[in-house]
Amino acid sequence: MKTLTCDLCDYEAQGETFEAWMNALKPHYMQTHADVMAQHTGNPEEMKAKMNAWMKANRERFDVAA
Ligand SMILES: [Zn+2]
Repeated sequence: MKTLTCDLCDYEAQGETFEAWMNALKPHYMQTHADVMAQHTGNPEEMKAKMNAWMKANRERFDVAA
């Protein structure tokens, strides 16, 4: 089980895998960072690119976490 903070604040989420961690973070993200998510709505291509970049950056963070 790894504990990683949210990439935007100090909120901590736990997960056995990156996918589990992401699912644990999701409710927090939707509630606290809804404005950030809302910025990327509209253009599906841009949204997908942003999401992929986010996943890549956070997966790397997850992999190096103890
Ligand atoms: Zn956060």
